[in-house]
Amino acid sequence: PARGETVFEARDVRKEFGGLVAVNDLSFSVRAGEIMGLIGPNGAGKSTTFNLVTGVLRATSGEVRFGGQEISRCASRSIARRGMSRTFQHVKMMPTMSVLENVALGAHIRGHATGLSAMLRMDRNEEKRLMKEAHRQLERIGMSALMHERAGNLALGQQRLMEIARALASDPILLLLDEPAAGLRHKEKEQLAEVLRQLRTEGLTILLVEHDMDMVMRLCDRIVVMEFGTKLMEGTPTHVQADPAVQAAYLGT
Ligand code: ADP
Ligand code: MG
Repeated sequence: PARGETVFEARDVRKEFGGLVAVNDLSFSVRAGEIMGLIGPNGAGKSTTFNLVTGVLRATSGEVRFGGQEISRCASRSIARRGMSRTFQHVKMMPTMSVLENVALGAHIRGHATGLSAMLRMDRNEEKRLMKEAHRQLERIGMSALMHERAGNLALGQQRLMEIARALASDPILLLLDEPAAGLRHKEKEQLAEVLRQLRTEGLTILLVEHDMDMVMRLCDRIVVMEFGTKLMEGTPTHVQADPAVQAAYLGT
Protein backbone atom coordinates (compact mmCIF):
# COMPACT_ATOMS: atom_id res chain seq x y z
CA PRO A 1 0.00 0.00 0.00
CA ALA A 2 1.11 3.58 -0.74
CA ARG A 3 2.25 5.69 2.21
CA GLY A 4 -0.69 7.44 3.87
CA GLU A 5 -3.30 5.07 2.46
CA THR A 6 -5.61 3.47 5.03
CA VAL A 7 -4.48 -0.11 5.63
CA PHE A 8 -6.49 -0.88 8.71
CA GLU A 9 -9.82 0.31 10.01
CA ALA A 10 -11.98 -0.48 13.04
CA ARG A 11 -15.58 0.70 12.73
CA ASP A 12 -17.73 0.81 15.86
CA VAL A 13 -16.06 -2.29 17.20
CA ARG A 14 -17.67 -3.54 20.40
CA LYS A 15 -16.79 -6.35 22.74
CA GLU A 16 -18.90 -7.36 25.70
CA PHE A 17 -17.90 -9.94 28.28
CA GLY A 18 -21.20 -10.73 29.99
CA GLY A 19 -22.35 -7.34 31.27
CA LEU A 20 -18.97 -5.69 30.89
CA VAL A 21 -18.31 -3.54 27.84
CA ALA A 22 -14.57 -4.03 27.31
CA VAL A 23 -14.49 -2.19 23.97
CA ASN A 24 -17.23 0.34 23.40
CA ASP A 25 -17.94 1.11 19.74
CA LEU A 26 -14.34 1.94 18.97
CA SER A 27 -13.41 3.44 15.60
CA PHE A 28 -9.95 4.28 14.35
CA SER A 29 -7.81 3.72 11.32
CA VAL A 30 -4.13 3.18 10.64
CA ARG A 31 -2.37 4.58 7.58
CA ALA A 32 0.42 2.93 5.66
CA GLY A 33 3.87 3.82 6.93
CA GLU A 34 2.88 5.25 10.29
CA ILE A 35 3.43 4.16 13.86
CA MET A 36 0.05 4.37 15.58
CA GLY A 37 0.09 4.21 19.36
CA LEU A 38 -2.71 2.70 21.42
CA ILE A 39 -2.58 3.81 25.05
CA GLY A 40 -4.79 3.96 28.10
CA PRO A 41 -4.88 2.94 31.76
CA ASN A 42 -5.07 -0.69 32.84
CA GLY A 43 -8.41 -2.19 31.90
CA ALA A 44 -9.01 0.38 29.14
CA GLY A 45 -9.48 -2.35 26.54
CA LYS A 46 -6.17 -2.27 24.69
CA SER A 47 -5.43 -5.98 24.83
CA THR A 48 -9.00 -6.83 23.94
CA THR A 49 -8.73 -4.52 20.94
CA PHE A 50 -5.53 -6.28 19.89
CA ASN A 51 -7.27 -9.63 20.17
CA LEU A 52 -10.26 -8.41 18.15
CA VAL A 53 -8.01 -7.04 15.44
CA THR A 54 -5.95 -10.22 15.13
CA GLY A 55 -8.91 -12.58 15.16
CA VAL A 56 -8.17 -14.09 18.56
CA LEU A 57 -11.54 -12.75 19.78
CA ARG A 58 -14.70 -12.09 17.82
CA ALA A 59 -16.39 -8.69 18.18
CA THR A 60 -19.92 -8.47 19.58
CA SER A 61 -20.63 -5.94 16.82
CA GLY A 62 -18.82 -3.64 14.44
CA GLU A 63 -16.40 -4.17 11.63
CA VAL A 64 -12.67 -4.62 11.23
CA ARG A 65 -11.19 -3.96 7.79
CA PHE A 66 -7.70 -4.73 6.60
CA GLY A 67 -6.33 -4.12 3.12
CA GLY A 68 -9.78 -3.06 1.94
CA GLN A 69 -11.49 -6.26 3.06
CA GLU A 70 -13.64 -7.05 6.03
CA ILE A 71 -11.85 -9.47 8.35
CA SER A 72 -14.19 -9.32 11.36
CA ARG A 73 -15.13 -12.95 11.03
CA CYS A 74 -11.82 -14.37 9.82
CA ALA A 75 -9.75 -16.81 11.84
CA SER A 76 -6.46 -15.51 13.22
CA ARG A 77 -4.45 -17.71 10.87
CA SER A 78 -6.24 -16.29 7.85
CA ILE A 79 -5.66 -12.75 9.10
CA ALA A 80 -1.95 -13.53 9.58
CA ARG A 81 -1.80 -14.82 6.03
CA ARG A 82 -3.23 -11.54 4.73
CA GLY A 83 -0.27 -9.70 6.25
CA MET A 84 -0.91 -8.97 9.90
CA SER A 85 1.70 -10.08 12.37
CA ARG A 86 2.00 -9.58 16.11
CA THR A 87 4.19 -10.02 19.14
CA PHE A 88 2.92 -10.92 22.57
CA GLN A 89 3.35 -9.13 25.86
CA HIS A 90 5.09 -12.17 27.31
CA VAL A 91 7.82 -13.48 25.06
CA LYS A 92 6.83 -16.73 23.39
CA MET A 93 9.81 -18.74 22.25
CA MET A 94 11.52 -22.10 22.15
CA PRO A 95 14.28 -21.40 24.71
CA THR A 96 16.51 -24.32 23.79
CA MET A 97 16.36 -23.62 20.07
CA SER A 98 18.64 -21.11 18.36
CA VAL A 99 17.62 -17.54 17.63
CA LEU A 100 17.65 -18.40 13.93
CA GLU A 101 15.30 -21.36 14.39
CA ASN A 102 12.95 -19.31 16.52
CA VAL A 103 12.73 -16.66 13.83
CA ALA A 104 12.32 -19.31 11.12
CA LEU A 105 9.15 -20.49 12.86
CA GLY A 106 7.63 -17.11 12.03
CA ALA A 107 8.53 -17.40 8.36
CA HIS A 108 6.33 -20.43 8.14
CA ILE A 109 3.09 -18.64 9.05
CA ARG A 110 2.13 -16.93 5.84
CA GLY A 111 0.47 -19.33 3.48
CA HIS A 112 0.86 -22.39 5.69
CA ALA A 113 -0.17 -23.91 8.95
CA THR A 114 1.62 -22.43 11.94
CA GLY A 115 3.85 -23.93 14.55
CA LEU A 116 6.46 -26.48 15.23
CA SER A 117 4.49 -29.52 14.08
CA ALA A 118 4.18 -28.02 10.60
CA MET A 119 7.85 -27.18 10.64
CA LEU A 120 8.78 -30.73 11.53
CA ARG A 121 6.87 -32.03 8.53
CA MET A 122 8.54 -29.87 5.94
CA ASP A 123 11.18 -30.89 3.47
CA ARG A 124 14.79 -29.83 3.21
CA ASN A 125 14.25 -27.11 0.59
CA GLU A 126 11.44 -25.52 2.55
CA GLU A 127 13.59 -25.57 5.67
CA LYS A 128 16.42 -23.86 3.77
CA ARG A 129 14.08 -21.17 2.54
CA LEU A 130 12.82 -20.47 6.05
CA MET A 131 16.33 -20.31 7.50
CA LYS A 132 17.39 -17.91 4.76
CA GLU A 133 14.40 -15.69 5.43
CA ALA A 134 15.09 -15.80 9.17
CA HIS A 135 18.71 -14.81 8.56
CA ARG A 136 17.57 -11.91 6.40
CA GLN A 137 15.25 -10.60 9.11
CA LEU A 138 17.90 -10.90 11.81
CA GLU A 139 20.27 -8.88 9.63
CA ARG A 140 17.54 -6.34 9.05
CA ILE A 141 17.29 -5.59 12.78
CA GLY A 142 21.03 -5.89 13.44
CA MET A 143 20.92 -9.21 15.31
CA SER A 144 22.60 -11.65 12.95
CA ALA A 145 25.67 -11.96 15.20
CA LEU A 146 23.43 -13.72 17.74
CA MET A 147 21.68 -16.09 15.35
CA HIS A 148 23.31 -19.27 16.67
CA GLU A 149 22.81 -18.35 20.31
CA ARG A 150 20.26 -20.30 22.34
CA ALA A 151 17.16 -18.09 22.53
CA GLY A 152 16.88 -18.73 26.26
CA ASN A 153 20.32 -17.23 26.83
CA LEU A 154 19.41 -13.84 25.40
CA ALA A 155 18.78 -10.76 27.52
CA LEU A 156 15.14 -9.63 27.57
CA GLY A 157 15.78 -6.76 25.16
CA GLN A 158 17.30 -9.18 22.64
CA GLN A 159 14.41 -11.61 23.08
CA ARG A 160 11.97 -8.82 22.25
CA LEU A 161 13.95 -7.99 19.11
CA MET A 162 13.99 -11.69 18.22
CA GLU A 163 10.19 -11.69 18.52
CA ILE A 164 10.01 -8.74 16.17
CA ALA A 165 12.28 -10.53 13.69
CA ARG A 166 9.99 -13.57 13.92
CA ALA A 167 6.93 -11.41 13.28
CA LEU A 168 8.73 -9.81 10.31
CA ALA A 169 9.63 -13.19 8.84
CA SER A 170 6.05 -13.66 7.65
CA ASP A 171 6.46 -10.44 5.62
CA PRO A 172 3.66 -8.45 7.25
CA ILE A 173 2.03 -5.25 6.04
CA LEU A 174 0.91 -4.36 9.56
CA LEU A 175 2.95 -5.20 12.63
CA LEU A 176 1.24 -5.15 16.05
CA LEU A 177 3.41 -4.88 19.12
CA ASP A 178 2.09 -5.53 22.61
CA GLU A 179 4.16 -3.59 25.14
CA PRO A 180 7.54 -4.33 23.55
CA ALA A 181 9.40 -2.05 25.99
CA ALA A 182 7.99 -3.55 29.20
CA GLY A 183 10.79 -4.49 31.60
CA LEU A 184 13.56 -3.24 29.32
CA ARG A 185 16.49 -1.14 30.48
CA HIS A 186 17.00 2.33 29.10
CA LYS A 187 19.59 1.27 26.56
CA GLU A 188 17.46 -1.63 25.33
CA LYS A 189 14.51 0.74 24.88
CA GLU A 190 16.65 3.07 22.81
CA GLN A 191 17.72 0.17 20.63
CA LEU A 192 14.12 -0.99 20.23
CA ALA A 193 12.96 2.51 19.30
CA GLU A 194 15.72 2.73 16.72
CA VAL A 195 14.64 -0.57 15.13
CA LEU A 196 11.01 0.59 14.99
CA ARG A 197 12.00 3.88 13.38
CA GLN A 198 14.02 2.00 10.80
CA LEU A 199 11.08 -0.31 10.01
CA ARG A 200 8.85 2.72 9.54
CA THR A 201 11.40 4.23 7.17
CA GLU A 202 11.26 0.98 5.20
CA GLY A 203 7.51 1.49 4.85
CA LEU A 204 6.15 -0.89 7.46
CA THR A 205 2.99 0.09 9.33
CA ILE A 206 2.98 -0.42 13.09
CA LEU A 207 0.28 -0.49 15.76
CA LEU A 208 1.95 -0.12 19.14
CA VAL A 209 0.43 -0.79 22.56
CA GLU A 210 2.93 0.57 25.05
CA HIS A 211 2.97 1.83 28.62
CA ASP A 212 6.25 3.69 28.36
CA MET A 213 4.91 7.20 27.70
CA ASP A 214 8.27 8.64 26.85
CA MET A 215 8.72 6.08 24.11
CA VAL A 216 5.15 6.44 22.82
CA MET A 217 5.39 10.22 22.62
CA ARG A 218 8.75 10.18 20.89
CA LEU A 219 8.04 7.39 18.46
CA CYS A 220 4.39 7.51 17.38
CA ASP A 221 3.00 9.58 14.53
CA ARG A 222 -0.50 9.43 16.00
CA ILE A 223 -2.01 8.06 19.18
CA VAL A 224 -5.42 6.68 20.16
CA VAL A 225 -6.20 7.11 23.85
CA MET A 226 -8.66 4.66 25.39
CA GLU A 227 -10.45 4.77 28.71
CA PHE A 228 -13.10 2.30 29.92
CA GLY A 229 -13.31 0.77 26.46
CA THR A 230 -14.01 4.10 24.79
CA LYS A 231 -11.80 6.25 22.61
CA LEU A 232 -11.05 9.34 24.64
CA MET A 233 -9.20 11.04 21.83
CA GLU A 234 -6.91 10.61 18.88
CA GLY A 235 -4.14 12.82 17.60
CA THR A 236 -0.46 13.59 17.35
CA PRO A 237 1.70 13.19 20.48
CA THR A 238 1.79 16.97 20.97
CA HIS A 239 -1.97 17.18 20.65
CA VAL A 240 -2.57 14.23 23.00
CA GLN A 241 -0.14 15.43 25.67
CA ALA A 242 -1.73 18.86 25.76
CA ASP A 243 -5.29 17.55 26.19
CA PRO A 244 -6.70 18.19 29.70
CA ALA A 245 -8.99 15.12 29.55
CA VAL A 246 -6.04 12.88 28.71
CA GLN A 247 -3.94 14.41 31.46
CA ALA A 248 -6.72 13.87 33.96
CA ALA A 249 -7.52 10.33 32.87
CA TYR A 250 -4.14 8.97 32.15
CA LEU A 251 -1.09 11.04 32.73
CA GLY A 252 -2.20 11.78 36.29
CA THR A 253 -1.46 15.47 36.14
P1 ADP B 1 -6.01 -3.31 28.91
O1 ADP B 1 -5.25 -4.18 27.99
O2 ADP B 1 -6.22 -1.91 28.37
O3 ADP B 1 -5.43 -3.27 30.28
P2 ADP B 1 -8.09 -5.33 28.63
O4 ADP B 1 -8.47 -5.29 27.22
O5 ADP B 1 -7.20 -6.41 29.09
O6 ADP B 1 -7.49 -3.90 29.07
O7 ADP B 1 -9.40 -5.38 29.53
C1 ADP B 1 -10.52 -4.52 29.33
C2 ADP B 1 -11.61 -4.93 30.29
O8 ADP B 1 -12.15 -6.20 29.87
C3 ADP B 1 -11.15 -5.15 31.72
O9 ADP B 1 -12.16 -4.72 32.59
C4 ADP B 1 -10.94 -6.65 31.79
O10 ADP B 1 -11.12 -7.12 33.11
C5 ADP B 1 -12.04 -7.18 30.87
N1 ADP B 1 -11.70 -8.45 30.22
C6 ADP B 1 -10.67 -8.66 29.37
N2 ADP B 1 -10.67 -9.92 28.92
C7 ADP B 1 -11.75 -10.53 29.48
C8 ADP B 1 -12.32 -11.85 29.41
N3 ADP B 1 -11.77 -12.77 28.62
N4 ADP B 1 -13.43 -12.09 30.13
C9 ADP B 1 -13.98 -11.14 30.90
N5 ADP B 1 -13.51 -9.90 31.01
C10 ADP B 1 -12.41 -9.58 30.32
MG1 MG C 1 -3.46 -5.28 28.48
